[in-house]
Parts: sequence; structure tokens; C-alpha cells
Amino acid sequence: MFMNTIVLSEGQRLASSQLPRQGVLPASITESAQAIIAEVQEREDDALRDFCLKFDGVVPESFSVDSDTMDKALECVDPAFLDALEKAADQIRDFHERELAQSWFTAREDGTILGVKVTPVPSAGIYVPGGRAQYPSTVLMNAVPAKVAGVKRIVMVTPPQKDGGISPYTLAAAKVAGVDEIYAVGGAQAIAALAYGTQSIPRVAKITGPGNAYVAAAKRLVSGDAGIDMVAGPSEVCVLVDSSADATVVAADLMAQAEHDPLAACYLVTCDPNFAKKVQERIEVLVAASPRAAITKESLDTQGVVVVASDMDAAIDAVNVIAPEHLELHCENAMGLLGKIENAGAIFVGPWSSEPLGDYVAGPNHTLPTGGTALFSNPLSVEDFVKRSSVVCYTPEGLSSDGPAAQTLAQAEGLWAHALSVGLRRKLIEEGLDGY
Ligand code: NAD
Repeated sequence: MFMNTIVLSEGQRLASSQLPRQGVLPASITESAQAIIAEVQEREDDALRDFCLKFDGVVPESFSVDSDTMDKALECVDPAFLDALEKAADQIRDFHERELAQSWFTAREDGTILGVKVTPVPSAGIYVPGGRAQYPSTVLMNAVPAKVAGVKRIVMVTPPQKDGGISPYTLAAAKVAGVDEIYAVGGAQAIAALAYGTQSIPRVAKITGPGNAYVAAAKRLVSGDAGIDMVAGPSEVCVLVDSSADATVVAADLMAQAEHDPLAACYLVTCDPNFAKKVQERIEVLVAASPRAAITKESLDTQGVVVVASDMDAAIDAVNVIAPEHLELHCENAMGLLGKIENAGAIFVGPWSSEPLGDYVAGPNHTLPTGGTALFSNPLSVEDFVKRSSVVCYTPEGLSSDGPAAQTLAQAEGLWAHALSVGLRRKLIEEGLDGY
């Protein structure tokens, strides 16, 4: 059996402490990331070169990738890949355009105008992992929302490959998504360069994108000096089934998450222990054919959980306790269950909504809250690349109406000049506005 089973008796609720979730980042990783950041702050490009050599085994001739190299990448990649990339980019763009918040203003009867002005962040730095695999989909999922938000300077960083360059697949995705600058540097050192700047890499206002534990630790450490999106942990899927589910499809869906990473977590929630057994048998058959069998098995063995609930309400409660990154509803009337799902990063409704479609092409962002943080946080969106400024424009009538309350509150807080600032204006209005 690949996954551990938790059987809930009638009336028993799943407790989040029963899940084998990985906690905070190890202190040793945070210490290493801190040391790398300090070096980059002090020695800038020299430190980047040293860390590239140490961790990637190569020092790029130049960190910056020129536009000719970007253009050439489009010619190097397979046309079918380029078509798929363009289709994905179009659908991601269409979806994210709906997220774009507009500035808004409202006028009171006394003429006072209140509102919100939405402005894109001036620059965004996108981390694209490149240590053990290439992730063109990550380029699209970060750069397209930034572009839709209207960010003027979109910068991508990714580790150099053995030849000191960047994979044409990643470069092609950057070109399709409209990335403005690309630098061949990865790890915590790339995050430090984005946050503080070096001779070659001007700093950015906001940093987004996934990465390994060093990247995650560095993002957490620079947060506050630069904005960050979220600190993503290992990927997760939770599959909720009823008697309508197909065991082979469910097995494949669990494996699609497990093959990411030995720490990826898969949850199967069911009311039928026999169905769970069937899924485990199918996994056994499918794993034998998988080129990623070792990672898949380790993930399912150490992080996989089957929850057997006494009825559907208890099963849905368990899903809400898990608060998974991805949730698949393999249930009759799956759409009817949507209202009961409170905590999930992305919800895939019904048997045809394979989660990998969401990873690549459906349109919603694939950067999602992990580790139970769907309890309080959101997928990456256009909102991550804009700022809101409140707008307040009083008329004399509005000031006369609100001034006394503001003065009373300021006096109660002992803030003399606050009360004066309002009081002087009231006096001017009462004495006539001539000369003001
Ligand atoms: P990466 O680019 O995140 O990390 C590679 C870099 O790590 C290297 O360039 C090096 O600078 C640094 N590094 C390696 N060993 C180090 C050490 N001992 N000390 C300090 N720094 C060190 O690539 P990766 O390692 O392949 O990890 C990618 C991660 O991103 C995976 O966990 C993957 O699952 C995740 N990912 C997540 C998503 C998502 O949307 N959630 C998408 C794609 C990838």
C-alpha cells in the first residue's frame, strides 16, 4: 500500500495535526540564504559570480541575456511547443484580464470625492526555477499577470545551465509572455540581486515565482525590502470521490502530483474503503510504467494519505481541514458541492477537469497557496502586481461636516497638531475663504 490511511469514526473530525505536513523551512537553509544575501549586498556582481560557480558549476560571460538570443530561441524550439505556449499564454491572458481592478471614485452629497487609484508596481522580478528541470509554464504564469497589470519592467532570473546560457524553452516562454530583461542567475543570490540590486541587475519592487528551499528562504528574508507573493511549499492535491469516480483516473491524478517531488502531498478522501483499495492497486500498476517511479513512490509512501470518512459531510469537512493547494471533485453533482468547499487554492470540478490542464493551459494561475495556507491566502493574480492608493478630496462643506469629529478624536489621542490641522481650515471657512 502506497498511502497511509486515516479512518474517521462517525462524528470524528479530521485534525490537521494528523497530516504528515512539512513545517517551516529548516534553520540551516535560512542561515545559508541569509549569508548569501549578505554577500550579494556587499560584493554585488562579484558575489553572484562566486555563487554561480559554486552552485551551478559555471560563470556566465554576462548575466544579462540579449534580445538576439531571445529571438533566436523562438527559432530553436519545436513549432508544436511554440503553438502550445501561445495557446496557453492567450488563455492565461484572457483569464487574468478579468482580474484587473479599476480605479474607482465616489462623490458625497457635499461634493467630497473618495476613491481608490490602482497603479501597477514599477518593476517585477520573476524567479523561474532551473536547477533540476525547466519550467516555461512558470514563466507564463508569472509574467502574463504582471503584463496584464501594466508593469513596465518585467525581469526574469533563472539559474545558468551547464553552458552558462538559458534553455531555449524558457527563453521562448519569456519572449511570448513579454519579459523585458533576463539574467542567468539563480538561487538565493538571484533573489538578493532582485531585492537590493547589483552592478548588472537593477533592483525590482516585487518578487514572485517558485523555487527550491534556498529560494523560498531568501524570499522570506528580503520580504519588506521588496514585496513578495508567497512562500510556496511542496505541491499538493486532494481528490474527493463518491461512487461515480473511476479508480484508474483517480490513481493517475494522485500520481500526477506525487511525481513532482518526494515531498509532494496527495490526499484521497472517500467514504468507501474498498474504493481506496482499488485506487492503491491501480497506482501499483501505473507506477511500474512511470519513468518517475522513484519520486512518485517516495511521495506517496511518506506524504500520501487516504481519509476514509463516515459520510459525505464528514468527507467535505476533511477537505476543508486539509485546505489543499489543488482539489479535484470526482463526484456526481460536483458543481453542487462547490458551495460547501471553503478552503482550497484551485478547485477542479467534475471528472473531466484534470488538474494538469490547470497547470498549463486552462487560464487560472498555477501558483497557489500550499501547506494549508489556502485557509487564508489566494492564487497569484494581477492583484499581486498592482498597488492601491486611497484618494480623499474634501470640499469646504465636507470639511465642515467631518472636521468636528476628527478634532474630537485627535484631542482624545493627545495629538495636538492633528486637531490644529483641521481646526485652522474650519476657521478659514468660518471667516471666509478669501485669500486662501
Ligand atoms: P531552483 O532554481 O529553485 O534552485 C536551483 C538553485 O539553488 C541553484 O542555482 C543554486 O543557486 C541553489 N542551490 C542549490 N544548492 C544549494 C546549496 N547547497 N546552498 C545554497 N544554494 C543552493 O531549482 P530546483 O532546485 O530545481 O527547484 C525547483 C523547485 O521549484 C522544485 O521544488 C519544484 O517543485 C518547484 N516548482 C514549483 C512550481 C509551482 O508553481 N509551485 C513550479 C515549478 C517548480
